[in-house]
Amino acid sequence: MENLASRIDRIQPSATLEMTAKAADLKRKGLPVFNMSVGEPDLPTPQHIQQAGIFAIQNGYTRYTPGGGTHELKQSIQNKFERDNNLHYNLDEIVVSCGGKHSLYNACQVLFQHGDEVIIFSPYWVSFPDFVSVTGAKPVFVKTNANQQFEPNFQDLEKKINKNTKGIIINSPSNPTGGVWSDEAILKLLDICNNRQDIWLFSDECYEQLTYDKPFKSIASYTNHNSKIITFQSCSKTYAMTGWRIGYIGGNKVVTKAISKLQGQSTSCPNSIAQYAASKALSGDQSCVEEMRKIFLKRRDLILAKINEIPDTICQTPNGAFYVFVDFNNYLNKKTPNGKLIKNSNDLSLYILKNTGVVSVAGESFGADGYIRFSYATSEQIIIEAMDLVNKALSNLSF
Ligand code: PLP
Repeated sequence: MENLASRIDRIQPSATLEMTAKAADLKRKGLPVFNMSVGEPDLPTPQHIQQAGIFAIQNGYTRYTPGGGTHELKQSIQNKFERDNNLHYNLDEIVVSCGGKHSLYNACQVLFQHGDEVIIFSPYWVSFPDFVSVTGAKPVFVKTNANQQFEPNFQDLEKKINKNTKGIIINSPSNPTGGVWSDEAILKLLDICNNRQDIWLFSDECYEQLTYDKPFKSIASYTNHNSKIITFQSCSKTYAMTGWRIGYIGGNKVVTKAISKLQGQSTSCPNSIAQYAASKALSGDQSCVEEMRKIFLKRRDLILAKINEIPDTICQTPNGAFYVFVDFNNYLNKKTPNGKLIKNSNDLSLYILKNTGVVSVAGESFGADGYIRFSYATSEQIIIEAMDLVNKALSNLSF
């Protein structure tokens, strides 16, 4: 009997990482694999950032740093928030962590506990419910509108807010939907929160540089009453730096101080070399960001065109991130050529994987059965080949 602590039973393994492992398995067996499950740019970290990392290694930036991040990196973050987001944070209102995921995890740890409820908009990024559950708090799911960039269903939101509500997690541009909320939706939400100064608003903006139809606006910049808004950003997607593990937040200094304390007793500090490179990434030439955005925009339009070729699917144009979240409800309850019933999108995603080698992530893990997420952070050639294979495999299903 191993006697694991009960908190570990409150969380699930990451579904996206599980699909990545399945893809690696197929590859090992020598089968063709089209990995469209990944949540990271396929592009290399830009040259000048790589060079900064090498410089850091060779010039002694290889020691522990302050728990909440180096002074230099915090200054670059402060300037970045001003430059890109029209937000001013003092240095003690900024804390650096080992990726945006770590920032979100830490913030949940220092703010939520048993008895609290935290609102999450569904479909949601797989990790949000687990970040909340592990603290002992309860994730509460609010419906969204698939026809309108997955903006909140405000009736449902107002119904779900109660005296126990301690936090609301927003993620626009969204993983998995790619949805970007309108100004009206954000203002409406802020208006609701205005009456409840005890609610913390988390804005996960890790895809802030990847919007395609209008420039991104940081949620805290919509209002002067933003002392309860915490802004989460990351170098991962913006600079193709997923493996470097640098994320950061701007927000209330009591929270940032608590997070620094927690980090001081867990990871000690984020990686010193990555911090040096991240500082150069944030303060240096930003043209690489726009170049990558243009590449993703072209791929988004390509994958949408290919999905439109698949009969009976529904997919609104996602205005951000690098995912399409396709409604395959019309394929549920069909049978495979072997007579196996497709009961849910998990079955469908596995059928697609077995018959085409295309790796996707089923909507169940994002709280949306009937949907499948494809990442288009992959080459145009793979997008074309993969979607043609999916289309062909789906044509073999019948009622
Ligand atoms: N938030 C969302 C919505 C994400 O999709 C991800 C990564 O996939 C993250 C946060 C965390 O990214 P990282 O920890 O690499 O900064």
